[in-house]
Amino acid sequence: MQLQPKLVFDYFAEINKIPRPSGKEEKMMSYLQDFAREKGLECQLDETGNVLIRKPASPGMESRKTTVLQSHMDMVCEKEAGLDFDFLKDPIQTVIDGEWLKAKGTTLGADDGIGCAMELALLADDSIAHGPIECLFTRSEETSLVGAFGLSPTLLHGDYLINLDSEDEGQIFISCAGGANTRARFAVSLQDAPADAFFMKIQVKGLVGGHSGDDINKKRANANILLLRMLARFMKKYGLLIADIQSGGLHNAIPRDGYAICAVPAQHKEQVRIEFNIMAAEFEQEYVQAEPGMQFLLQSCPAADKVLEKGLADRLVKACLGIPNGVFAMSQEIPNFVETSSNLASIKMQGDTILIETMQRSSLTSKRLAACEAISGVFQLADAEVDVNTGYPGWQLNPASPFLQIAVQAYERLFQRKPEVKAIHAGLECGLFSEKYPKMDMVSFGPTLQGVHSPDERLLIPTVQMVWDHLLEILKNIPEKA
Ligand SMILES: [Zn+2]
Repeated sequence: MQLQPKLVFDYFAEINKIPRPSGKEEKMMSYLQDFAREKGLECQLDETGNVLIRKPASPGMESRKTTVLQSHMDMVCEKEAGLDFDFLKDPIQTVIDGEWLKAKGTTLGADDGIGCAMELALLADDSIAHGPIECLFTRSEETSLVGAFGLSPTLLHGDYLINLDSEDEGQIFISCAGGANTRARFAVSLQDAPADAFFMKIQVKGLVGGHSGDDINKKRANANILLLRMLARFMKKYGLLIADIQSGGLHNAIPRDGYAICAVPAQHKEQVRIEFNIMAAEFEQEYVQAEPGMQFLLQSCPAADKVLEKGLADRLVKACLGIPNGVFAMSQEIPNFVETSSNLASIKMQGDTILIETMQRSSLTSKRLAACEAISGVFQLADAEVDVNTGYPGWQLNPASPFLQIAVQAYERLFQRKPEVKAIHAGLECGLFSEKYPKMDMVSFGPTLQGVHSPDERLLIPTVQMVWDHLLEILKNIPEKA
């Protein structure tokens, strides 16, 4: 089957032969430079490894404003368990499944290879009408955002920018949240475990989890908090002691599972079991809609010689339960949109430290800083060492953006309906671009992708043609330079 638009899918197939894990995009960088050389186009490689290819206006369009098209060249490399596949060498194998394009057991790399392919098609096809264009390919969006962070504020000359990294056709993004991580470290001090103690593993699992920004308003439970609520109750009533805690996962994910190894005086063992079951039932009631699969386990386990010193365990649990978590504030401008939030991502005992990771997000930098301040303060009161990273800036909403008008009108002309204009409570490279190029007018859109960052990643084939047509219609209608 011939996928359309042909040139876009041809370039997508080419890109999928090129290994491009985040941080290891060298082959993609040389491919892009070779491409530009072959087409006789001006190409620049900046210090961080971002590639910029410029193409002059098509005949008769020289007086139009300049448009930047941007995508990231790296991809998330995830494969099915047991699959023999080397992301540093092997080409991605694609398969068509009805209207979807997928990969055989790996991520597809349409995030953001399909954006790159559209840029290449645009650069290669001389029959398209457009003003001057600049195609920017950035590095390591999926991990460190090193490309967007390292972009020089003088590299681009464009008036407008289209980020091709959104995942739902029919949606145009015009704002994103900034984010920062607040980390707390408690120094571990131990005491001898009491001789008569009953040791047990308390475990929470099977939660839905999700993205700590985009999914923070979905009323889902946080595994760390449920676990800590149990520990707090048993500490208060039965003198529970903690020997180990490992809860939560990635810094940007709502935690799905966690456990603690604990001890209680043997005479309270049965009472603890009873209350454990009562609390589990209470939690199920609290999250009856959002968490159908959650499970709580209490199992006896081998005794440890040492446990956390009682005062330390007390400070740890109280601080983690004391910090605000979830949605802090909703947007004043956009209905039902989260403005500021925080997520308690993980609590992990590693050698002589207990490390706690949290992440704060907001569309308003001042509110994000206030959220970081509140959380740092609680941990400092509990004698933890706290650091807050610089994070990344948000992309401020500009509902009166002239470029948005152009994009919306182009969409309406093509499809006789309005696109959804949206903001996202998560980071996009546009946040960093808007900091470096405050005058640049930007939008973000792209074809429909599902299951991104997993081997389920799939691209809805017909939406590629729709986005491509939209892109060309926008370029045709770029206004004259002032
Ligand atoms: Zn992406």
